[in-house]
Amino acid sequence: MTSMQTTNTTQDPNYDVIVIGGGPAGSTTATLVSEKGHRVLLLERDKEPRFKIGESLVPATYWTFKRLGVLEKLKASHFPKKYSVQFYSKSGKSSKPFYFFENDPHESSVTWQVLRSEFDQMLLDNATEKGVEVQRGVSVHEVLFDEGKAIGVRAKLADGNIENLSAKVVVDSTGQSAFISRRLKINKIEPELRKASIYTHFESGIRDEGIDEGATLILHTANKDSWFWYIPLPYDRVSVGVVGSIDYLLQNRRSIDGRLDHQTIFEEELEKCPAVRSRIENAKQLFPVKVTKEFSYRANQIAGDGWVLVGDAFGFLDPVYSTGLFLALKSGEMAADAINDAFEKGDFSGERLGQFGSEYVEGMEAFRKLVYAFYAKEFSFARFLKAHPECQQGIIDILSGNVFTKDVSTIFPPMRQMCPLPEDMTL
Ligand SMILES: Cc1cc2nc3c(=O)[nH]c(=O)nc-3n(C[C@H](O)[C@H](O)[C@H](O)COP(=O)(O)OP(=O)(O)OC[C@H]3O[C@@H](n4cnc5c(N)ncnc54)[C@H](O)[C@@H]3O)c2cc1C
Repeated sequence: MTSMQTTNTTQDPNYDVIVIGGGPAGSTTATLVSEKGHRVLLLERDKEPRFKIGESLVPATYWTFKRLGVLEKLKASHFPKKYSVQFYSKSGKSSKPFYFFENDPHESSVTWQVLRSEFDQMLLDNATEKGVEVQRGVSVHEVLFDEGKAIGVRAKLADGNIENLSAKVVVDSTGQSAFISRRLKINKIEPELRKASIYTHFESGIRDEGIDEGATLILHTANKDSWFWYIPLPYDRVSVGVVGSIDYLLQNRRSIDGRLDHQTIFEEELEKCPAVRSRIENAKQLFPVKVTKEFSYRANQIAGDGWVLVGDAFGFLDPVYSTGLFLALKSGEMAADAINDAFEKGDFSGERLGQFGSEYVEGMEAFRKLVYAFYAKEFSFARFLKAHPECQQGIIDILSGNVFTKDVSTIFPPMRQMCPLPEDMTL
């Protein structure tokens, strides 16, 4: 492994663990390591909570929330309850909602749609309560290495001073910045999933009724070249975004003064999706559209000597099944267990810190295959389940996030007959 920076930082670490980034992956790892009595510092570059995309949870997050001790706060929150996800085909025909409780009547089958500024802060407050030293407004500039082993970070502190801080383990939870993997050049874009997204919030969008009020809707546009998400949020808001290949969404479109006119692209796609357009016809757009692209990638290593990657800092799949937050929480939990084990054994090697890697990647693979099916022109959930009703349970399990607890692999051989699916990626 190439070292990013070699330094002679003090041999006596200030901290047991330094976590870079205070999103869900970072706060989960930090909380569960701190609970074991280790001294954990979490550094978040944003001074204040801010808007983030990624607002819909899947039910399997319940178990990490339970471990973190935040279930009661979530239950008492104003986040809309999500019982199901529903797909609309390019002709505007909707599938029956996939109700998670049909698979499992347990309370974990109901989850939430969250406003990220509030949700991320809730998890950070919980980390503080569990003993983590959380510092906002601190930007990490370097991970410090000594003979290939991570030994700390160089950070710009809130007072503007630049300091070296040392630790036995450095956790990279910087999200799509993917601080370590981009610098080590171990990050690989998924070529078939080179997508872009344009999104915003609306006030007073139309919602369905009863338990469908908080449902996530996934709606294809008329040519199936793009799709919309429709996610009800608190404060009478809905999150609406369109996703398509970069080539389709961002090439050969109208530009103003040499810059792409993203608002017009968003509206052009809305025209191809009457089911979304009619829901927001009389709604108020709350801020100019935002754009993110090239978000599907993965590092080919999850840990090294003295460092671990969690959440998006390791990899991200497409947003279609709302699995990003779940994977952030789950990898945070798995990494925390590996770090706690490393402290017990006094072994901070990449092998020990990355012991969860294969199991984690195997879980990600189930989502990844279903993502490929979603984008295949020849695939539709309705047609697939008509031909293979026995696969209903497996599909709901994946949409619920039960990829680490159930065997969902049986749905893929019949699915492969309908559309091409990728070979498994391993670490
Ligand atoms: C278009 C789109 C739609 C999505 N929709 C969904 C959805 O509906 N449901 C879902 O579950 N997921 C969704 N996701 C994915 C979800 O947003 C991410 O998977 C999730 O936020 C990952 O959490 P994280 O903790 O790994 O990273 P983040 O939440 O990105 O947190 C990383 C943190 O690190 C901080 N940071 C970065 N660099 C530094 C530094 N150098 N020093 C200090 N701090 C730093 C950042 O400020 C940030 O707070 C979507 C993603 C995209 C692109």
